[in-house]
Amino acid sequence: MRESDYVLARGWLGYAIECNVKELNLCLKSYFYDSEAALDSYAVPESILTAKSIIEFYLCGAIFKSCYSDINLSSLRKLVLKRVDMNDQIFRTLISGCPALEEITIGQCYGLKNIHVRSLPRLMAVTLLYNPELEIFKIEAPNLKKLLLESTIVTDKWLHDFLSKHLLIESLELRHCNMLKRIKISSDHLKSLTICHCAKLVEANIITLNLDRLKYSGDVISFSSNARILSEVRLKFKIAPLDLKKIEFLAKLNHPKLLAWNTLRVESVIALKELREILPSPLYNVKQLKLKVNHRRGCYEIFKLVDALLWISPLLETLFIEWRMDENISFQFSYEDHIYKSKKHNCCKLLPVLCWRHCLKTVKIEHCGGTIAKETLEYYFSTNAEILESFEYCMRMHV
Ligand SMILES: [Zn+2]
Repeated sequence: MRESDYVLARGWLGYAIECNVKELNLCLKSYFYDSEAALDSYAVPESILTAKSIIEFYLCGAIFKSCYSDINLSSLRKLVLKRVDMNDQIFRTLISGCPALEEITIGQCYGLKNIHVRSLPRLMAVTLLYNPELEIFKIEAPNLKKLLLESTIVTDKWLHDFLSKHLLIESLELRHCNMLKRIKISSDHLKSLTICHCAKLVEANIITLNLDRLKYSGDVISFSSNARILSEVRLKFKIAPLDLKKIEFLAKLNHPKLLAWNTLRVESVIALKELREILPSPLYNVKQLKLKVNHRRGCYEIFKLVDALLWISPLLETLFIEWRMDENISFQFSYEDHIYKSKKHNCCKLLPVLCWRHCLKTVKIEHCGGTIAKETLEYYFSTNAEILESFEYCMRMHV
């Protein structure tokens, strides 16, 4: 930062504080320092640290010097610190000067080794992103409702102890927490759980009666849950075929209302014929499925993919398939209600319900981009659905 810019910036800040600014978003440096000599120009101005009007403070690319005599941000409710250099002492002083804090985010703060947050009765949300030097993370917040940990060194025991002391948590996100191996999450209040790319995780035992949304990305793990029917499950597995382990994982999801599945390749959602013959459809009660394939479709036949997805969930009401960039296709299905399972059908002999082949009444397709697939889809449904009454297909061009 040039000296003239620095003076100008201080002037603007002074004016904002005089005007009792409520939300302050301050980014002093880009990712790298301009020069070692200019470090002082990135120091957080002292005048901000006693501004009683500030309610939300986003600070990015700055340095907290250790010599601030007084920090008093008595109205501050939300504090975001990203790429802020500081030491443990100044962090403690800062936090003790923010008694009304409700939300805090800390990420990439060099110099910070020990985070110990306590005496903040209003604190409800903590987001801890990667902090390269962090060694100890302790938080005592009896009213905490939301915790996000990313690239943070926490163990199974730490998580267990933490959750047993913070019973009000409604939203928990664990991202790239690579020390976690076997976790047990037990909570009556948890509504939303995200577990993403925790590389060493092999087992998750979820005891959460009120869980509503689950997001899982990573390797297939041993999974058990007693949650009621979830309104939404989002999945992203590592690239691998849909094998027995994955199918068992899907079956443990307890038929969410919506399954949103993100995959790199189509093959990862297609179970082998041999497995389909010996296993029941794992999500036979799921009514909405959204599949996003992060790859171009190429010459892959849509009906083969639809066939595989209708094996996973054989009574879908809506199916939406999106390929990266170039194509999407949506299906709406309706069924005849009054058909009862009277004889053994080979296709659904392992299910407590009939599959679509015996009760599908109408199919409505909207296809956008890609090549026309009307004939193959119409042939597929008319030869497989025993009582099909109507097949509609509409091709749309990209706008
Ligand atoms: Zn059947």
